Order: sequence, then C-alpha cells, then structure tokens
Amino acid sequence: MYTNSVEILEVAPRDGLQNEKTVIATDEKVSLIARAIAAGARRIEATSFVNPRAVPQMADADEVAARLPHHDDVTYVGLVMNQRGAERALATGRIDQLGAVVVATDTFAMANQNQTSDGSVDAARAIIAMAQTAGKTGQVTIAAAFGCPFEGEVAEERVLAMVESLAEAGPVEIGLADTIGVANPAHVDRLVRRVRDLVGPIPVRVHFHNTRGTGLANVWAAVAAGARTIDAAIGGLGGCPFAPGASGNVATEDVVYMLERAGFQTGIDLGQLVETNHWLGTLMGRTLPGMVARAPVFPKLS
Ligand code: ZN
Repeated sequence: MYTNSVEILEVAPRDGLQNEKTVIATDEKVSLIARAIAAGARRIEATSFVNPRAVPQMADADEVAARLPHHDDVTYVGLVMNQRGAERALATGRIDQLGAVVVATDTFAMANQNQTSDGSVDAARAIIAMAQTAGKTGQVTIAAAFGCPFEGEVAEERVLAMVESLAEAGPVEIGLADTIGVANPAHVDRLVRRVRDLVGPIPVRVHFHNTRGTGLANVWAAVAAGARTIDAAIGGLGGCPFAPGASGNVATEDVVYMLERAGFQTGIDLGQLVETNHWLGTLMGRTLPGMVARAPVFPKLS
C-alpha cells in the first residue's frame, strides 16, 4: 500500500446507528451501506451480532447480512462479542471479517459485554480463531483504550499487554478505540507508536469519537504515527449504549476532506458523502454533527 493512502472503515451502519432511539428500517440500513459503497468505501462495519435485548437497533443483523450488496472488492465486517455472535455472523455466509471487541477496564467490560477485561481478551482470541477456521479474517478493537467512563485514566501498559496477547491470535489488524472521546493527539501519537513498535507488521486501526472536539486532531496524530485505517461514520453519527455521555464518531466526510486536502488518498468521493449525509439527516429528522456537509463546497466546482 502507498504510504500516502489511508483506508476508511465506514462504521455508520453499526456504531453510527446503534445508539439511535428510533429503530431504522432494514431497507434504510441496506441503502446506507449501498451509498457508502457507491461513494468508494471498500470496508464496512455492516452490523453487530449481539443480544437484541441489549442493542435493539441491531436486532435485524441476520437480515442486513443476507441483503448486503454483492461486491467482490468490498469487505463486510460483523462485530461480535462472543462465540455465539461469531457463529451467527459466520452462518450468514456474507460476513468477510469478524470484528471482536475487548475492553481495557473491568468495569466497562462488565457493562459492555458482561466479561472481565481479561475475559474479553480470551473471547476475542477465540473469535479470531473461529474466523480463521471458517476461512475468514478476524480483527479486534480495544475499547476504552484512551480512557474509561467508569474507571477514568487507562494505563498504556495495560493496553500494550492486551495488544501483545491479542497479537498471538493472528488478527489482521488491531484497533485502538477512544470509545468516549477523551483522547488527545499526544496520547494518540504515543500509543499508536508504542503498539506499532510492539507488534510490528500488524496494522493499527484507530476509532475516535468527537465528544470533546478532539476527533480530527486525533485522526491526524494517528496517521502521522503510522495508523493506516481510520474508523469513521457518515454524518458523525454514533455513540455507545453502555458508555454514559458517549457521542458521535468522527464524520467520514470530515476525515476525507481533511486527509485528501492534505495530500492523502482515501478512494472516497466527498461529494457523494455529503449527499449521503443530507439523505441520512432527512431520515433522522435532524442536522447531523459532521461539519463539512454543512459548509459551502471548497474548492468551488468549475
Ligand atoms: Zn465507537
């Protein structure tokens, strides 16, 4: 991969929608995915296979998977927390990559997935193995890697110990998630570099929420430190049902604008993202948090 290209993992269909109070129809979810692909997205977090009582918005995961548009060059990620979720995702036959989630603190791990932090690492290793056995790939995201809504500061050593253990399972990448939007660019720079130093060729993905306005600065710091995949949600939708006060992901259109203007290639068309932001806003009945879609087009189209 060229050093000036950055991959966007579109997470609006999962992280973006999961905290929405009104249930979005399966049709609309499939349309959102199709629009993201039309704009150029090639890896999409399509849904999560979790208990529908815990996350009602994802209750149609199997149906969304069955209706995913067929594109040979698109990788569909299904988020799973345990063996049962992994079995469901694999049984659809449409999920290319299992995304496991581990949590850096025990209190949040219990709230999010009823496991200890160590238990979540064991579960993720098993999920990655199941993906590999099924001929798919597995990746993992460390939630609350930059701070926990319950326990506060998270030690970098804790995150690095988890990374080391997870790396043994052979994930195709390791993600660092700022689930509650408390990270700052210096912290991001340090942690991304330390993870890269520790597990070498395994790529680092980052996941930022813009809860305190540091989202784009954190993306920039992560890219400068060598992260090559950025999670982002069209419109800046998102939140975590189990993290008090969590708000939207960095907006895909804002990330694409910043990176492309700075000379990076994302392969994603900004105009189509802005259109999709407006379509989603109409669907949700509100203006979405993303900034670029609310601003005049720059530079002007000739
Ligand atoms: Zn998130």
